[in-house]
Amino acid sequence: MKPTSSTFLLPALSIALSYATLVVGAAHAQTADPAAEVRRVLASPIYQSATAALDKEHGRIVEDGIKPTEIPAPPFGEKARAEEFAKMLKASGLSDVQIDPEGNVLGLRKGTRSDGKVVVVSAHLDTVFPAGTDVKVKRQGTKLYAPGIGDDTMSLSVLLGFVRAMKTAGISTCDDILFVGTVGEEGPGDLRGVRYLFTKGSYKDKIKSFFSVESGDVNRVTHGGVGSKRYRITFSGPGGHSFGAFGTVNPMFAQAQAAVEFARIQVPAKPKTTYSIGLIGGGTSVNSIPVSSWMEIDMRSESVDELKRVEDRMLKIVQEAADGENFARSTKNAKITVEAKLIGDRPAGNTDMKADIVQIAKAAIEAGGYTPDLNWSSTDSNMPMNLGIPALTIGRGGIGRNGRTHSLDEWEDVEKGPMVKAMATSLSIVLSATGME
Ligand SMILES: [Zn+2]
Repeated sequence: MKPTSSTFLLPALSIALSYATLVVGAAHAQTADPAAEVRRVLASPIYQSATAALDKEHGRIVEDGIKPTEIPAPPFGEKARAEEFAKMLKASGLSDVQIDPEGNVLGLRKGTRSDGKVVVVSAHLDTVFPAGTDVKVKRQGTKLYAPGIGDDTMSLSVLLGFVRAMKTAGISTCDDILFVGTVGEEGPGDLRGVRYLFTKGSYKDKIKSFFSVESGDVNRVTHGGVGSKRYRITFSGPGGHSFGAFGTVNPMFAQAQAAVEFARIQVPAKPKTTYSIGLIGGGTSVNSIPVSSWMEIDMRSESVDELKRVEDRMLKIVQEAADGENFARSTKNAKITVEAKLIGDRPAGNTDMKADIVQIAKAAIEAGGYTPDLNWSSTDSNMPMNLGIPALTIGRGGIGRNGRTHSLDEWEDVEKGPMVKAMATSLSIVLSATGME
C-alpha cells in the first residue's frame, strides 16, 4: 500500500509537529535529561530526609504489610482488604480516598503544577489464593511466610510508606500522584481493576504515566506486557455406569489425550512463549463415566503471532481429541463434544526503551548500585502499555529477598538494610518521574 502511505505523510507530519508543541508547553511531560533528573533527586536533602523516614518506619511498614496479608483477597473477593487499605491510605495522610465501582482503592496526592493529569503509582490488592486459604503470617527471623505476602501485599504497605515519607520530608511534586490499590490483577481477575481505571473510571484519559509496584527485586523493570489467552475447555458426553456402560465415549479420556498433545507443542525461547494447564476437574463419582470434564489453560507470549499460533494449535488439538474418542468408543447414546470458552485475554504492549520513565528507572537502579534487569511479564501495566501510555512495573524489595510466589510457602525477607535501600530506590524512581521540587 505504498501510494496510500505517501498520501498520509503530510497530515501525519503536521500532527507530529503539533504534538511536539504541546509537549514543550506541558510541565514535566518530557524531562530533558532523565538521568540528570534522577541525580538531582538523589542529591537533594529532602529526598534524603524521605529515605531517613523510610528507615525509621521500617518496622511499621512491615507490620502494615502483615495486616492486609491476613485479610483474604481471592480474585473477586478483595472487598474487605480494599476497605482496610482505604482506611490505611487515609490514615497515611491522603485526604481524597475513595473506592471506585470496580473495587479499586484510589488516593490522590495533589501536585503543585497540576496539568489535570495524574501519574498512577499502584500495587494490586488481590492474590491468586482461593477463599479459605490459611493466610496467617508466620515469622522465621527476618523471613515472613504467607500466601500473597510478597505478591503483592507488602507493596501496598510500601506505598503507604512512600506517602508518609513524602509528607514527613515535606516533598512536593509537580504532578498529581494517584496512589491505587487495584483489584483483579491475578488470573481470573483478567486485569479488571486497571481495565476499569483506564477505560471507564473517573481518571480515564487523565493518566499520563503508570507505575505498578510489584513483588519483584528492585532491579527488575517490566517494560513489556506479555499477552495471554486463557481458556476453559469442557468435554461433554452421555455418561454412564463405569461397568454397565463400558465402551461408551468418556470425556476424561478425550481431555487426557488433548492434554498430552498440548504438552507437545513446540515454542520458541525467544520471543518467550509458554503454556500450561492449571486446573482440571469433572465427573461425579469414581464408578461413573463422567458427563463432563474440564481443564483451564494458560498461554502466553511476548509475540502476538506466536500466541496466536499456540492458541490455534490448542483449539485444533481439543477438537481432534474429541473426534478421536468418538472414533475409539461407542457414541450410541451421544458423541463427545468440546466447548472452548475464552476466560482471559490480556492485551500485549510495551513501553519504548527510549521513554523517559524507562531511562529514569534505569538511572535510579544503577545509582542504587544494582544492575537493571529489563524484562517482559504480564502485569497491570499491560493495560496502559496496550493503550500507548508509558507504564512500568517496578520492584521494591532487595535482590533475591522473596520467593515461592503463587505457592502456599511464599516468603518475603524483610531484613531492614536491603529492604530500606530497595524502597528508597523505588521512591527515587517515582519522585524523578513526577518532578520532585
Ligand atoms: Zn502480582
